[in-house]
Amino acid sequence: KRQEVGPEEHGIDPTLVDERALNVVHTLKEAGFEAYIVGGAVRDLLLGLRPKDFDVATSATPEQVKGLFRRAFIIGRRFRIVHVVYGRGREHEVIEVSTFRANLDSAAAEAVSGNERTSKNELAGMKHAVDASGRVLRDNVWGPQEEDAARRDFTINAMYYDPERRIVVDYHKGIQDAKKHTLRMIGDPAARYREDPVRIIRAVRFSAKLAALGFKFEAKSKAALLPNLPLLADVPQSRLFDEMLKLLQTGHAIATIEQLKTLGMARGIYPLLDLIVERAAQPFVRAALQDTDRRVGEGKPVAASFLLASVLWADVRDGWSQRLARKQHPFPALQEAIDEVFDARIGDISGRGKLGADMREIWMMQPRFEKRTGTTPFSLVEQPRFRAAFDFMRLRADVGEVDVVLADWWQEFSLASDTVREDLVMQLR
Ligand code: ATP
Ligand code: MG
Repeated sequence: KRQEVGPEEHGIDPTLVDERALNVVHTLKEAGFEAYIVGGAVRDLLLGLRPKDFDVATSATPEQVKGLFRRAFIIGRRFRIVHVVYGRGREHEVIEVSTFRANLDSAAAEAVSGNERTSKNELAGMKHAVDASGRVLRDNVWGPQEEDAARRDFTINAMYYDPERRIVVDYHKGIQDAKKHTLRMIGDPAARYREDPVRIIRAVRFSAKLAALGFKFEAKSKAALLPNLPLLADVPQSRLFDEMLKLLQTGHAIATIEQLKTLGMARGIYPLLDLIVERAAQPFVRAALQDTDRRVGEGKPVAASFLLASVLWADVRDGWSQRLARKQHPFPALQEAIDEVFDARIGDISGRGKLGADMREIWMMQPRFEKRTGTTPFSLVEQPRFRAAFDFMRLRADVGEVDVVLADWWQEFSLASDTVREDLVMQLR
């Protein structure tokens, strides 16, 4: 079953391979371990795309990996991996290194969940923690590469690339599927979605991202999606939230939303995502989604806070104007409106973290753009979140919610030198 494929067949362009990933593989191999670039990076390399990040799979344990690199950190519980860090600040790069994992096949998972006779010892013998519906809760049992491949999701995500020998290792006809532009789940799709329902969301993500290249689902991999959608109810909210963000940040958010509708999943993955799909046609939300896609396409960083702030802006604005009509002061009114929206739409998943704080700042800065006298503009432009808040205001101007003249003025002001800034403020008198 194991296939080794050389450069003339896989055609990978070596210049697309990140130097630091090369270094990680080289160091591990020097130390006597097996090591390969794996997963999405191999998929993208095969398709001629530059991978946005590189994962490495190895026969070394996390502790052994850590011992080989100066800046390496073991992270995760459910899934222990090592982050090998290169460079600092903006240039910093993380290579994720995971140890080959043993496969818990879905039949075994179902035996555990469905069979009363399965003893505690048998369960322990499997060394995986599985809950009543067959979900894998912990997954830290090391195994051979072949088993590591079998527990991955799609065939095109389950290949290994040795950048030194320039060989792709393929157990599940991933190369063939990549060439045929087929998105195929390894094994029995229904069982794999049951085992980890998040794979349903991943399926949407990859199908939307690869649709531009002409990829299509293999029939069963597609047919099993919708019937298993209700299983997402058992997945922790925080994981769903993270997957939702990944779904929106592929650079194909608009296509993803279309794909969700086509697959009959416009509702049911996560409440906030339902809302985004519902509002995707609204000019402001659409503009924000397009902006996100454009930025990803240009290789620029995107902030989830910006997109979510856009989606929920209509609620904030409504709550705010209701309070203004009741003669509340503008700032506390806005603050209250924001609190209300967080309670109703975000809950406590991410509302307390940096993401929530950034959303608040983007919103809270909006009324401050209206005040352009004295030193106010000078302090506003120095705020760390000025850029995001300004981009947000620019989007509001694009859809006619604020005066374009105001947006242009702020653009000028933010780019100008101090003396020109003084002039810009003077001219308003
Ligand atoms: P992207 O380019 O969006 O990062 P990716 O394929 O690299 O896509 P990751 O989430 O980074 O996706 O995961 C890396 C690899 O780990 C995948 O390619 C796949 O082989 C495996 N994997 C990740 N999540 C799962 C899962 N839920 N079930 C099975 N395999 C998974
Ligand atoms: Mg990846």
